[in-house]
Amino acid sequence: MKSGRNNDIPSESGRDENDSDRLRRTISPEVMSVELVSAFAGDREMTEGEKALICTHRRNRGGAFYSDLFFAISHHYFAPEIAEALWEKVLAHKHITSERLGRNVRITVAALDYLSNITSELTAPTLISEAYISEIVNLSMRDGMTGLYNHSTCYELLELEFRSHRRYGRGISLLLLDIDDFKLVNDRNGHQQGDRILIELARTLIEQTRDSDICCRFGGEEFVVILPLSNDPNVAREIAERIRTKVTGISCGWQQITVSVGVAVCNQIINSPRALIERADQALYQAKKSGKNRVVLRVVQ
Ligand code: GH3
Ligand code: MG
Ligand code: MG
Repeated sequence: MKSGRNNDIPSESGRDENDSDRLRRTISPEVMSVELVSAFAGDREMTEGEKALICTHRRNRGGAFYSDLFFAISHHYFAPEIAEALWEKVLAHKHITSERLGRNVRITVAALDYLSNITSELTAPTLISEAYISEIVNLSMRDGMTGLYNHSTCYELLELEFRSHRRYGRGISLLLLDIDDFKLVNDRNGHQQGDRILIELARTLIEQTRDSDICCRFGGEEFVVILPLSNDPNVAREIAERIRTKVTGISCGWQQITVSVGVAVCNQIINSPRALIERADQALYQAKKSGKNRVVLRVVQ
């Protein structure tokens, strides 16, 4: 995935600045809130819902569970191999300082104190509100014009889906859409109108897919929809058809907007993001070649 491999240098603290690091950075704040971690650490009683959330998170994340706890409260990534032991130490520090001060020291304060004053894991820590960091993370993941996930996030989220697919085999389908004759739309109506069409198309994608589906602006006038847990080619084709039909309702001047869609469904052979996108791209090429405004499904053999 991407060329960030030259960053894969493990530091002494066990922090790896690699792909999974970036994934934690982008995904964790949505999954683990500071409030949940705080309750888990014993700052207050956990609700039944929180207990269930923790159980699910532990099950899904395996060894990365403790890395997520730290990420949520410190915005720093600690590799799973060291995170669990470190968590125990921070918890112990919380209890000792609470006893010493005669009041409950929250986990965020204890962690910050332990990591900056005792182990020096964090140098010059700054406090940033959870809302602010979420906003920054969110902005960096999205395309400014349409609000959909951007190209790099598309790959990151697809990689994440693949990890789950490789483990549980529940499938992933992918739609690659390209607006037909978009250059003409711009030439005849101007760039601003072209931009409006891109925004309308993005809205259509969101409306025609489920919350759990992942809509991305892949590049200029190309879009990707990732359908997690989807291994039925007919379902993927149906969704693509539904989107294609809806898009014909968009117009620019007298010109009707249409899209061509390449669909690919992964199996044992196609087990990487790049391979799945390549399949969809071949199907898209076929759709363009056969006259545009159509869906082509590339069955994987
Ligand atoms: P085809 O049917 O083969 O896909 O033809 P096309 O004209 O859509 O394809 P082509 O790749 O020749 O043109 C894509 C156009 O998309 C060219 C580029 O100016 C336009 N485009 C890319 N990004 C944007 C954008 O952000 N805004 C606008 N208005 N146009 C964009
Ligand atoms: Mg194109
Ligand atoms: Mg095009």
